[in-house]
Amino acid sequence: MARYTGPVCRLCRREGVKLYLKGDRCYTGKCAIDRRSYAPGAHGQARKKVSEYGLQLREKQKARRIYGILETQFRNYFERAERQGGVTGENLLRLLERRLDNVVYRLGLATSRVEARHLVRHGHFTVNGRKVNIPSYLLRPGDEIAVRERSKESPRIKELMERAADKTPPAWLEYNAANASGRVVALPTRDQIDAPVQEHLIVELYSR
Ligand code: SF4
Repeated sequence: MARYTGPVCRLCRREGVKLYLKGDRCYTGKCAIDRRSYAPGAHGQARKKVSEYGLQLREKQKARRIYGILETQFRNYFERAERQGGVTGENLLRLLERRLDNVVYRLGLATSRVEARHLVRHGHFTVNGRKVNIPSYLLRPGDEIAVRERSKESPRIKELMERAADKTPPAWLEYNAANASGRVVALPTRDQIDAPVQEHLIVELYSR
């Protein structure tokens, strides 16, 4: 499955905000945004006038980068969101939030979506009792996500389980520390999604 493999702090610097792509490092003084809060490249510090199209493009790129999705798949999510009826931008964010790798991250069972994706790919989770190793798997209300029994012996997973026990997931998810499992209680509402994205700009971009 294709994914971006280049330097990730560069992506945050390009968008001008912390995208929290590197887990614990993002919360330390080593964060590149804290140290060099200008765009990467030779002209990163130049003042530029950004067009309307430029703003829309940046917003779409930011959303893609937050969720770690390449262009074609992102476009597919958008088309699906459009077909759903209602507010397309919100539908889009809701679809992105429902991805298994995102839910693992939101439950606190990974320090970043990149790590969540890696753990899912390695088969450390079940959905409704069955192993699922597809990061883009879309969860529905009522679905139960759990750490696989054999994975609970892994030192890294043990550490993540302990950390998850101390965290409070968003209101649309529940976490049960006793058996390292979570449940999708409901679809997330817009105010429960803390992604710093102005989704209407993405809709405008794709509607051109
Ligand atoms: Fe972004 Fe994290 Fe790198 Fe900071 S440390 S620039 S938040 S990926």
